[in-house]
Amino acid sequence: MSETNRDDRVTDVAGVPDGLDVLVVGGGAAGLNAALMLARARRRVAVVDAGAPRNGSATRVGGFLTRDGMSPAALLAAGREELAGYGVPVLRGRVTGVERTDDGGGPARFRARMADGTVLAARRLLVATGLRDELPDLPGVRERWGRDVLHCPYCHGYEVRDQPLGVLGTGPHSVAQALMLPQWSDDVVFFPHLVEPTAEERERLAARGVRLMEGPVGRLAVAGGRLRGVEMADGRAVPLRAVFVSPRPVPQDGLLTALGCARGDDGRIRADALGRTDVPGVWTAGNVADPHGKLVNAAGAGATAAVAVDRDLAEEDTADAVRRYRAAAATAAAPQIA
Ligand SMILES: Cc1cc2nc3c(=O)[nH]c(=O)nc-3n(C[C@H](O)[C@H](O)[C@H](O)COP(=O)(O)OP(=O)(O)OC[C@H]3O[C@@H](n4cnc5c(N)ncnc54)[C@H](O)[C@@H]3O)c2cc1C
Repeated sequence: MSETNRDDRVTDVAGVPDGLDVLVVGGGAAGLNAALMLARARRRVAVVDAGAPRNGSATRVGGFLTRDGMSPAALLAAGREELAGYGVPVLRGRVTGVERTDDGGGPARFRARMADGTVLAARRLLVATGLRDELPDLPGVRERWGRDVLHCPYCHGYEVRDQPLGVLGTGPHSVAQALMLPQWSDDVVFFPHLVEPTAEERERLAARGVRLMEGPVGRLAVAGGRLRGVEMADGRAVPLRAVFVSPRPVPQDGLLTALGCARGDDGRIRADALGRTDVPGVWTAGNVADPHGKLVNAAGAGATAAVAVDRDLAEEDTADAVRRYRAAAATAAAPQIA
């Protein structure tokens, strides 16, 4: 970075004083893969990342071809290293505000301000800020989240296969989660806790061999740096290797809504299959708009959006080139005054 300031002057990153082609906000799988594609398209791109990826508490990545078993931190470090090879700056920090700086009639232009006062300008904005998991409010859950308090059997079920597993009933998806787990273990206990399964759900759980432990849960028992089991409010204890919960996904989409991006009926930012939002020049990728996406989906969405952004920029570049071409042709054709 050649200059950092606390007023509104644009900070020059990577020697581009007139601003970037694309600013990527969020340096998880989605943002980094987007930046990689844009760098390979020879776009002037930078990433700002606050450094808190959604799976940051997990010890390993599951289900990402060639990355299976890698630590989440090592995966992102490898991504940043690849970007460094293309000269892409990855700035550690938080973007706290974004604004459009064009007048709405011409091509989109943006400014983003970071918490430390750095101001970045870009022709396009790709927001890949992920989501926050709102965890059930129960002692032990936060402490062991991502380790042996889990949510996704595809990510972590294999590592706890054939061991005693619990499912904490906290919401509408809990029964469905309990019905999936016999694929990984034949020792599954469902704790209805905050949900009341219907008669049909009880029958389905029984048919799948899932045992029910009625009554409110008091806490998760944690000792020696690992989960020991579930302790009911009345003191009964159930030893378990892991407990599955269903956190509420909260998209970190404040920058997008501030720019006027609309949410659909499902509460998610409205974007097409390429990540294009309702606001011209603003794109999105990863969990911020698709809460169900795994790492490989987020990376793929980043790549998809990057290609679409590049094509959008190529359209603008072509329109500019045609304007200049016509102006030059008109000048050449004008009668010369002696
Ligand atoms: C505990 C857990 C374990 C998981 N394990 C797996 C697994 O094994 N395999 C798998 O495929 N999936 C797994 N997932 C899902 C995986 O975490 C997501 O698919 C993935 O993180 C989505 O990538 P993303 O780039 O959209 O978001 P993230 O990885 O969350 O990255 C978003 C980044 O943006 C940054 N950011 C947010 N706001 C700002 C801002 N204003 N300015 C700058 N930066 C900002 C954040 O700090 C973060 O670094 C797991 C999820 C959880 C919760």
